[in-house]
Amino acid sequence: MSARGEQLLAFLESAITAREKAARAVGYDTIAAGDYLWGTKYLLLRRGDESKASSEMDADLADHLALHDPESVLRRCAADRKLLELHAGRMHSCPAKDETGYLDEWTHFGGAYACPVLELLAEGYGWPGGAL
Ligand SMILES: [Zn+2]
Repeated sequence: MSARGEQLLAFLESAITAREKAARAVGYDTIAAGDYLWGTKYLLLRRGDESKASSEMDADLADHLALHDPESVLRRCAADRKLLELHAGRMHSCPAKDETGYLDEWTHFGGAYACPVLELLAEGYGWPGGAL
């Protein structure tokens, strides 16, 4: 793999692992958000016998927690790991723009190069290299 590709994959592995670790460290074994954004706006955090309802916290914090509860973070991390498995370190085709802006839907990427999907995935985690 190219040096840049290796750096990008190492960055993604580290970023995903950090988010998984942080999500697990929250300590709340259950966050029941249900249809929080679409209906009742009731969020309940549970840790053992303890619980805290959204009505006991700042409304913006409750909104944020409902969107980023540990379960959803871990679900996102698992999906990102599946994308890594499909796009990292193997020959495959991905849509990519060339230097003229033309979108080639079947650009071939060797195992040594990061495709646009990996670049964009890394961008979402704060990769300083940006997207293609
Ligand atoms: Zn790809």
